[in-house]
Amino acid sequence: MRRRVRLSLVALAGIAVLGVSAGVALGGKHHSHTWRVSHDLHDNKPKNVIFFLGDGMGTQEITAARYYQYGAAGHMNIDNLIFTGFDKTWSLKPGAGPNYLPDYVPDSAATGTMWSTGKKTIDDRISQGPSTALNVPGSNDGFATVLELAKKHGKRVGDVSTAEITDATPAVLASHMSNRACQGPTDTATTCPNEVKGAGGLGSIAEQEVDHNVDVILGGGRARFEQTIGSGPDSGKTVVQSAQGQGYQYVTDANGLANVTNSHKPVLGLFNSGNMSLEWTGPPASLGAGNSPAAKCGTTNRPANEPSLADMTRKAIQLLDNKKGFFLQVEGASIDKQDHAANACGQLGETVAFDDAIGVAEDYQRHHPDTLIVVTADHAHTSEIVPEDATGTSIPTGYSTNLVTKDGQTIRMTYGTSGFGGAGQPPVSAIPSQQHTGSVVPVWGFGPGAAAVLGTGDHTDLFDTLRGEDH
Ligand code: MG
Ligand code: ZN
Repeated sequence: MRRRVRLSLVALAGIAVLGVSAGVALGGKHHSHTWRVSHDLHDNKPKNVIFFLGDGMGTQEITAARYYQYGAAGHMNIDNLIFTGFDKTWSLKPGAGPNYLPDYVPDSAATGTMWSTGKKTIDDRISQGPSTALNVPGSNDGFATVLELAKKHGKRVGDVSTAEITDATPAVLASHMSNRACQGPTDTATTCPNEVKGAGGLGSIAEQEVDHNVDVILGGGRARFEQTIGSGPDSGKTVVQSAQGQGYQYVTDANGLANVTNSHKPVLGLFNSGNMSLEWTGPPASLGAGNSPAAKCGTTNRPANEPSLADMTRKAIQLLDNKKGFFLQVEGASIDKQDHAANACGQLGETVAFDDAIGVAEDYQRHHPDTLIVVTADHAHTSEIVPEDATGTSIPTGYSTNLVTKDGQTIRMTYGTSGFGGAGQPPVSAIPSQQHTGSVVPVWGFGPGAAAVLGTGDHTDLFDTLRGEDH
């Protein structure tokens, strides 16, 4: 467990003042953080909690986006969240239990289960306990999620992502499933047959999200919701029809979302059949030194009928805002997906869009200071910022891309966690999916309860933080 912070508040305020007096590096702005630190050290419970999850957004990813878009001295919205710490992200290896061995490099399902339920599980598993193998369902007992608990306390709840909204990260809040692949009814009948409703299960991830009556569901993944439910009370209906039958307002494009004004009925917004479109495009990575000369990213790839992550965040906050408070999760999902694809511009565009969405929450928080904002990554990832080799003898072995930053300088990004070509052979030239990495990830916070993110902890600690219970 992460250390309790109450006893050290006075000492901490002293440290913070010293830290500020040292100023910031040459070329940077001098910000006084003192008043913010003292504000957030008050032992208040947040009324609203907005949790931002940058999938695969470790230190390299956020730094590369900073340098590319804002330059070396640039300021990001995330920098306003001045409480920072680190979390371990290890998951469990399958086993007979009750004790399990650590898996140092987790996936998004296992890490999501950590903040959602406060418990560890095996990779690919959604808010459900570990077991001997992925195809052997674990127990749902004791795996109540932060969203379920917020709802129980009368708060409104929202789940927003640029991925299919049934993908692992959004799924962990409002479903319990042995395998993250069981997103729609057909997927579940094939891969998780014991968890369809006809077998006494909870149904697919899509069905469970609707059955949870999540107030605001926004993202991609329309095709999952268009699958037909095979058993249970809504047998023969698609999940969209089931949602509409349960009172959901259903929209499929940016205009439709903009026109939603009724916050008394839940909203299901599905803006792409699969994952939502990427914001940016750019030169493909290639082995070794990468493209030359360095290029700029194209920044107009997302079609106008798909809302941006910032737009979805703004609308979600607007609809969720109420007297009793709300819990909202916002995921920048394709930072991870484009890291896997060694697509530097794709990854950078999603990271910048994620930071824009954080800015929307900060604007809200300025007028609603009883709001806690927490930002983290679920796991570290592969991209690295490496030097431009001037001699030809230190060219990276991975897949590289050279881009021109705001400073007018070249940033070389390389991806090298998958692609081994065999003993004595060069890496394979067709880029295979790059691997996650096992580093701790940063956690940022601001608002009542934000002091809980300080120091080095574990992703399971976030469960208490997001419930406003770490006091
Ligand atoms: Mg994700
Ligand atoms: Zn991934």
